[in-house]
Amino acid sequence: MDLSQILPVPNLLEAKRVVAFSPHPDDNEMGAGGTLAKLAGMGTEIFWVVASDGGVGTEALGVTPDDLIALRRKEQEGAAELLGAREVRWLGFKDTRLRDDLRLLESRVVAVIRDLQPDFVMCPDPWLPYEAHPDHRALGHAVSTALLMANFGLVFPEAGAPVPAPKIAYYGSAWPNTTIDVTQTFDLKLQALMMHASQWPAPLDQQIPMYLTLQAASLGENIGVDRAEAFKVLTPHHLHFNVDTWQA
Ligand SMILES: [Zn+2]
Repeated sequence: MDLSQILPVPNLLEAKRVVAFSPHPDDNEMGAGGTLAKLAGMGTEIFWVVASDGGVGTEALGVTPDDLIALRRKEQEGAAELLGAREVRWLGFKDTRLRDDLRLLESRVVAVIRDLQPDFVMCPDPWLPYEAHPDHRALGHAVSTALLMANFGLVFPEAGAPVPAPKIAYYGSAWPNTTIDVTQTFDLKLQALMMHASQWPAPLDQQIPMYLTLQAASLGENIGVDRAEAFKVLTPHHLHFNVDTWQA
């Protein structure tokens, strides 16, 4: 069955306002930095929402969470600005602890959606096979839940008045349905990602750009361009009781 005949895949490049939800500082850049910069250049309003404080993201000894949080906040503000974000919002949850109170996480995400009223949201695909990080799974699920509920005022009444539900573009998806040409913004993506310098001790500072470049070149081949990023773009209707969505 071709689901797209009944439920077309939305066009991400027509987005007017995107709220990109990131489990940690750096995930939006890694998964969607080229596309977010491209959209910003086209006049789309881009907002970064970082769910956790990034306070345990280091293998270095002798670093305190408070120092790391402050450093990562600075790295994130600079990187988001470079890619054209209007604003970075912080939900303030503790790193690796997003699943501790899923109801609260969902409520906070709904509140952001009801406040900013985006027509598209982004986040990691929580159904990525072998995704072991609990924050990526928790935030992906919370944003998906919020998509189903943002327009129902009797649900999450503490999170503000209902708004039309946005569409969603999952990054880091095993079953993408949308490939975006990011040839013009790929260098900027890498530059922004590397601004999260606390995350890339050698040899990661070499390996990560190399891996992402090979991946972007490979995705680009699918649509005949040099560099691309891929997304699973869906509507709220895809996200409930729809057995065909995985192949949409
Ligand atoms: Zn992450």
